[in-house]
Parts: sequence; structure tokens; C-alpha cells
Amino acid sequence: MAGTTEVKKAACYFCHMNCGMLVHVEDGVVKKVTGDPEHPFNQGAQCPRGASAMDHLNHINRVNYPLKRVGERGSGNFKRVSWEEALEDIAARLKKYKAEYGAESIATAGGTNRTDDWARRRFFNLLGSPNVVHTSPVCWIPNFLVETAIYGWSAFDPEIMGSRCVVVWGHNPGASYLPEMRGLLEAREKNGTKIIVIDPRCSETAARADLWLPIRPGSDCALALAWLNVIINEELYDADFVENWTVGFEELRERVQEYTPEWAEAKTWVPAEKIALAARIYATSRPACIQWGVATDQLGRATSAVAQARAVLRAICGNLDVPGGDVMPGPHPTFITDVEMELNELLPEEQRAKQLGSDRFRLSTWPGYKLLNEQLERVWGKGLPAEWMCEASPPVLWRAILTGKPYPVKALIVLADNPLSSYANSRLVYEALNKLDLLVVMDYWLTPTAALADYVLPAASWLERPVLTTTYGVSDWLIASERAVQPLYERKTDYDFWRALGIKMGQEEYWPWQTNEEAFQYRLEPLGYGLETYEDFVQGVRFDFAPREYYKYLEKGFATPSGKVELKSSILETLGYDPLPHYVEPPFSPEATPELARDYPLILIAGGGFMPFYHSEHRQITRLRLLHPEPRVAINPELAQKLTIKEGDWVWIETPKGKVKQRAKLTTAVPPGVVQAERGWWYPEKGAKDLFGVWESNINACLDDDPDTCDPACGSWCTRSVLCRIAKVEG
Ligand code: SF4
Repeated sequence: MAGTTEVKKAACYFCHMNCGMLVHVEDGVVKKVTGDPEHPFNQGAQCPRGASAMDHLNHINRVNYPLKRVGERGSGNFKRVSWEEALEDIAARLKKYKAEYGAESIATAGGTNRTDDWARRRFFNLLGSPNVVHTSPVCWIPNFLVETAIYGWSAFDPEIMGSRCVVVWGHNPGASYLPEMRGLLEAREKNGTKIIVIDPRCSETAARADLWLPIRPGSDCALALAWLNVIINEELYDADFVENWTVGFEELRERVQEYTPEWAEAKTWVPAEKIALAARIYATSRPACIQWGVATDQLGRATSAVAQARAVLRAICGNLDVPGGDVMPGPHPTFITDVEMELNELLPEEQRAKQLGSDRFRLSTWPGYKLLNEQLERVWGKGLPAEWMCEASPPVLWRAILTGKPYPVKALIVLADNPLSSYANSRLVYEALNKLDLLVVMDYWLTPTAALADYVLPAASWLERPVLTTTYGVSDWLIASERAVQPLYERKTDYDFWRALGIKMGQEEYWPWQTNEEAFQYRLEPLGYGLETYEDFVQGVRFDFAPREYYKYLEKGFATPSGKVELKSSILETLGYDPLPHYVEPPFSPEATPELARDYPLILIAGGGFMPFYHSEHRQITRLRLLHPEPRVAINPELAQKLTIKEGDWVWIETPKGKVKQRAKLTTAVPPGVVQAERGWWYPEKGAKDLFGVWESNINACLDDDPDTCDPACGSWCTRSVLCRIAKVEG
């Protein structure tokens, strides 16, 4: 509208926090972005990423038009085409693959949940393919699913402000989620909340802890089991809750006898008395909560065992769904949630059975999803979304593309993802992407993955699209935010893309909403606010938090087959897994692979969020890159001295899978036997022909994703306990 100045209520989507932003728009042009002081998450604050929103919107290297590859794959040569031409050709080719090889020959890969994921799943269910992948096996989902099997939802909403003790486990909000860190420190200041941090590194969060347990990378399961041993044998558990609301306690008691603090000391490198002390503080400081991060989702075959032991800890200490404890929000009761938009019921049974990896990773695929949702629907009235919670296995997908087994996979549509940077075993991923008949990438930029694509499609960023924040569709609240401006150039939202492609594929009747806003308005209607448009809702209401209820199990029971917390899980047992907590060593460690440790004596932690970047994003934003120009590997000064490595030297990090280089950062935050490399690195300045230097520093090129080393329940590969050696780059 000409001559107008407006302040739009948007949400930053540069990370999961979805901080509220006020966007000042003059005559349709974004002039300023500031933190929204009324937003409950950030209360006006903005991190450096959020502050770079306008740079991102107007960046000279944004993809602004659909591009079609000309010349060899990977040549970096593209020509501009119209949306119509691109969609027409993509749809024609998808129809051909479906007719010749079946719908399962078409797959999609997505990244962190910052897109309209339900729309992707809707499209794929209508298409008839079960092969949707994300980085879900290493990001939040294993914990969520194991907890859901044991007590019928994830207790992912720790109530820090009312808690007497917060355990921060494998999580570093001090570096990756600053609003969370603020909340933690405020709780200690106001309420004297004790903070226990479990992390091999003296992270930004560990440095502020009351008690820090510097465990050996990947030994989390031993620690959790030893806590169970102490808490049960010293009778520090909540006897009433255990008596009335759990099943399997006696078997649990028997099971944990072998896991003494002394046994755990050898596994974790933490003294037995310190392990016991931490267990006592946690168990006797009720209510307490455990705030976990993704580190324990990235332990390969040990992943779900950690989640299982930790879930049982919460339950026996009586912290589930209590004020100040681990609150299980359940789904929003009235709002139309993601699962209700996905049309999972339209995916035929025989297609579900073809989901890649569902024969071995049974909790995170259709077999587990079906069992969990039966219980969830009974108690909560609705289940989990299939997107993220019921996915094909990425390692199995890459191998199917390469071998044609168990069936050919011909096409991959990538949205909000950069598999070449973000998935383990990057060389294998590269070979797989090269083998595809059709690779479509929708992104803001030409990324290493996009450089290999047949089509690159321009994506709208958060200033150009509305956002409905619902935590992957599993929270009992929502926050609605509006787009500040219409997409610039020919950028589209991913909803627009799936809808347009769906219509080309004959799905028209299932895509009645012309815009994101219309779809969101449909989802909001049952809330009963009676507002005409989505924009009215944002301006007038914006937040809908279902009234917070505690002890919901008193009325409904837990959403498990017994209606109680299953310390011995019948769902895990039905799926063929050990129903009781047990110890699993990660696949690569001095203990699991001593022969490998002779040549690769150091433990590599590959990953962990760090400011100012998010995953593999933002390297092209100059103001952020100036803050952190190059990748850094953290090395203890003692180790560095032995290897004659100095601060700032380029250092090779080598595993049996490959080697990459990063700059040495000498720090006592990591112990001498451990190094931590940064993830997600590529160099946007290096050009598409060189795949933006993706082989130089991308630590995923050093990681293995062999399905035999992945978590048996959820398919997680190992990034946090990998064996490596390092050496100074000479010359
Ligand atoms: S990137 Fe920063 S400002 Fe944006 S949502 Fe995350 S923490 Fe908030």
C-alpha cells in the first residue's frame, strides 16, 4: 500500500526459538527489524542471527528465480526458467517414475522444522510415497519417541522457573539458545534453583553450573543407569508415584543392580562419589526437571538406551507432569494440529510397509508410529504428526538410491535442507545425489546440494511468509506471526510449492487454501475467536496457550497400553527391543573398537550449535561471518603442545571415513583426549563448480552412517563419540 508505514508482528525463523519480531515496513519495503518486547520467548531481545534478517532478505546471492541445470550435473551452470516450466517438467517426471517404479521411488529430504512440514507430508501421502526423511534420527525425535513409548508423550516442556533443580543434559543453551539460558539463570537468581550440567566439555552452560559432570563423550547411558542405581537403592524415589502409577518397578530394581557408581566411573571418567552426589541432589530436590538437548540423540546405537534410562529417572522421582517438573503438554485440544493436516490415513498400508528402514528402525517408522498413536489417540484424542515422528531412514535411502535395493529411488525433492553438509558420510551422500534421475532443491541460496540439482527453486524467508509456531505440531500452545512483505522476486513459500506441484499431480481437491494464511485460518477456526482473517488473529490475539494443567494422568491415565508409566515398556518389547533400561556403548569408542583406537586415539565430538550460525546456514551473511570467519576445532593445550599445534593453525581431523581441516582453537574446555569440531561448514564464496568447498572442512565427511552402527530403534547415527586423529596441516 503506497505511502503507509506498518509494524508487522513476525517471528524469526533462523532457529527453533521463533523469537517475536516487529518489522517496520514502509511502502512495502522492510526498513527495520526489532525484537518484540511483548513476545514471551525473547521479550524484545535479538541474537546476532535475528539481527541479520534484512541482510538475509536482500542478499545479492539469494536465489530469486527458478533455475534449471544446463550441462553436466555439478557443473554449476543453470539457466532461469519460469515457475510454470519448472513445475510442469517436475510433475511430468514424477508421474513417469511413479508409473514405472512406484510412488516409493520418489523421496523428499527436509531440514530443521522451519517450514510447512505438514504440507510436505500431505503431498507425499497423496502421492503414495512413505519416503520422507529429515535429520530426525539425530535431532530430538529419538528422545521424544522413547519417552512416548514409556509414558505416552514427551516431557519436553521442563518448567524451569518453578523447579528446585534443573539438569541440563547434552545441551548448551549458553551457546545455542540464549533465551533459554536467560531463563535458567533467572530461575537460580530468583528461586535458588540448582543447575547440574552433564557435558564432556566445560561449555558456556557448564561454566555457570552448580555441579558439572564432565563425562566421557557418549557415556551418558552409564551415568543415567548409575543414578537409577543410587536412587533406587537409597530409596530416594517417589514411592507413592511408583506404587500407584508405574509398572515394572521390581524388574527395574533388579536390572540396575549391576550399574553401580563405581561401574559407571570406569565408563564415564567421573568419580563414583560425584555421580552419587549428583543423583542425590536430583532425586531430593523435588520438583526437578531435565532439560535435554540433541547431543544424546547422536550416539549411534546407544541413543535410545540413554533416552530410556532418563525417562525412567524422571518417572520414579515423581517429576512427571508436576508444577516445576517435566511437564507433558500433550497436543493442543482444539487447534487443528499438524497430524490432522497430513492425511496420513490416505497412505495405503502396502505403501507404509515400503518405508525405507522400517524393517529395522521400528520405533521411528510406521510400525512404532502406529502403536504409539493408538494409545495417544485413546488418551489425548489425537496423535503425533508423521512428519519427523515417522520417517524413512536417511542412511537406508542413500543406499537404496545407489544400489536400487530394495527398490529403485529415482527422484529426491529437498526443501530446507542441505544433505551434502548435514548428513553423515557425505561422500556417500554425494554419490547418491549424483545417481538420481531428478534432484529438485528449494532454498534461499545455491548450496553444495543445490549445486548438484536439476532444478533450484527460490524460497521465501521468514520476513516473506507467515509462521505458526507449534513446536513441530506437538505443543499445547500456538503463536501466530505474519509475513512482513510479500515474497520478493519469484520466491515462494514451501506451502505454495507443494500446493502448486500437488495441483499439477492431480491433487487439486486436497489443496483448497490458496495461501499459507488461508490454511492457517482454517486451522485456527475451532479456537472460536470468530475473527475473519489470519491477519486479524495475529494483530488481535496472536498467542493461544491452552490452560496449563498438571497431573493430567489422574484423570486420563498415561497413554500407554497399561495406562501407567511403563518402566518395563510393553511397546518397546512388542517392537523387539529390551523393555528395561540397559547399557549400550556407542559404536566407536576406545572400549567398543580398541583396534580402531590404536590408530585413531582421540574422541571426536562433531557437532553442537554455536553462535552466530545455525546448522549449515548463514555463512554468506557478512556481518555474521566476520564474527566467526572460519571453522574451529577445539583442542586442549596439553594435546596441542604434544602435536606442536599452535592457536590458529590449520589442523587435519581424520577418521577412517575421511579427513577435513579446521583451525585450531586451544581451550581447556575439552579434555586432552577429546577434540570438538564444528559442523555445517562450507564456503559460499568458493563457487558452485567447487561445490562451495564442501570437502574442505565439512566434518560430516568424517562420520559413518553404516546402518549397523545406528540406533536399532530410531536409526540415529553417531556424531558425538567418534574416533579420530589430528595433525597440523603442513605447508
Ligand atoms: S536466531 Fe536468534 S533471534 Fe532468531 S529465533 Fe533464534 S534466538 Fe531468536
